[in-house]
Amino acid sequence: MHYVSTRGSGVRADFRSVVLSGLADDGGLYVPESLPVFTPEQIASWSWLPFDELLWRVVSPYVGTSIDENVLRELLSDSYRHFNHRAICPLQQIGHNEWVLQLFHGPTQSSKDFAAQLQSRLVAHFLGEVGAQALIVGATNGDTGLAALEAFADCPGARMSMLYPRNGLPAETLAALQTANPEQVQLFPVDGSFDDCQTLVSRLFRDWPLEGVIPICFNSTNWVGVLAQIVLYFHAALQLGGGIRPVGFSVPAASFAEIYAGFIAQKMGLPINQVIISTNRNDALHQFIHRNRYSTQVSNRTLSPSMDFSLFSNLERFIWELYGRDGGATKTLMEHFEDCGELSIGNPQWLSARVLFDSYAVDESQVRDEVIRLFRETGSAVDPHTAVGALAGRMHRRSLGAPMVTFGQIAPAKSAALLATLGVWQGEVPVVPEVHAMPPYLAKGDLEALRRALLLAWQGGA
Ligand SMILES: *Cc1c(COP(=O)(O)O)cnc(C)c1O
Repeated sequence: MHYVSTRGSGVRADFRSVVLSGLADDGGLYVPESLPVFTPEQIASWSWLPFDELLWRVVSPYVGTSIDENVLRELLSDSYRHFNHRAICPLQQIGHNEWVLQLFHGPTQSSKDFAAQLQSRLVAHFLGEVGAQALIVGATNGDTGLAALEAFADCPGARMSMLYPRNGLPAETLAALQTANPEQVQLFPVDGSFDDCQTLVSRLFRDWPLEGVIPICFNSTNWVGVLAQIVLYFHAALQLGGGIRPVGFSVPAASFAEIYAGFIAQKMGLPINQVIISTNRNDALHQFIHRNRYSTQVSNRTLSPSMDFSLFSNLERFIWELYGRDGGATKTLMEHFEDCGELSIGNPQWLSARVLFDSYAVDESQVRDEVIRLFRETGSAVDPHTAVGALAGRMHRRSLGAPMVTFGQIAPAKSAALLATLGVWQGEVPVVPEVHAMPPYLAKGDLEALRRALLLAWQGGA
């Protein structure tokens, strides 16, 4: 299997180079040159498989000959060993033919564990092979950073740098990040939004200061971040439809990687009749699907903070697909977007996006009502992000006959304080930890300061 860049400069890479990378050399994102496609009979024959066996079927074509078969099998079975549910991601029924796919049984209780646990094992494997050092860099609003921290804690040869909005992290997350060993993990509070952090990370990868140190992104600009999500669609669709009956999905827009993975799963042959992109009132993706107007906007704080941003890096991979894998057209559009923060695609491309995708934006009072309603009807509390997805799924499903699966990305316990105020939480409400004063922070857009700090840390600690 070979990978090319969304910006079409003729880059060609194998799976190992894709794992050990930030962006492609031309500043684009890596995408597989072709997709494995399975027949309905093949897919239906997997309906009884345990999660790690299914993972192997879905992931191994993307790895190709880069990892020996037995080594890969072991690595995949090891990846989700620390999840606390035997089904890895069980389905909970919340209504008539309505389900929540619980993606929060990993070590940090969010769906980000799926990508992080797999990525850290792949990185450790390949770093061992090439005998090199790597710096794992990324931006976080909360969940991704925690998942990466947990996953890469013991990865030999790897250190981490994390950017986050100075005023944007929940105290629990910040406290957890601050317990990391500062020799291994460097924290960069940024005086700006999460979008500003992501922009700095992308620019850093295009202008990498550390010679001899491999840059790796822990956000899903890295292909592994997408790859790990594809299997989730297969798992749910096989449980509910045996791979024969079409299934619909509603995905709260906490990451476009999870949404885009549904598009890829469908192209691989999985019967999916619909993917609903559900947003809170930070509705950049809803505006894109609904009106073909995508723009980065100031984020409002909401009850579902993991969705409070507007810069979705995996949109670039989707646009590349919509434009028939035309790297030149994608490059022009993305450069225009980077300059002015706005994007519309051609009408034929937009119409083809609408074949699979719908979208819905939920406001704050609807989220509260939905949390309470679900508690009344099912006896269990769901977190507010999941409530956004469940409501969108019910409002916009195309077929009552197709099971509707909402991605449950975050454990309800993480929103215990809020759920308690809504009267739907009977467990303990953890005390908010104290966090100590922040280290000096980066001005937004100050790439030079970031490059200098990385150089200093690396020279000092190496
Ligand atoms: C999850 C995700 C985010 C949000 O980051 P968090 O740290 O989880 O808030 C942003 N971009 C991408 C591509 C993601 O997958």
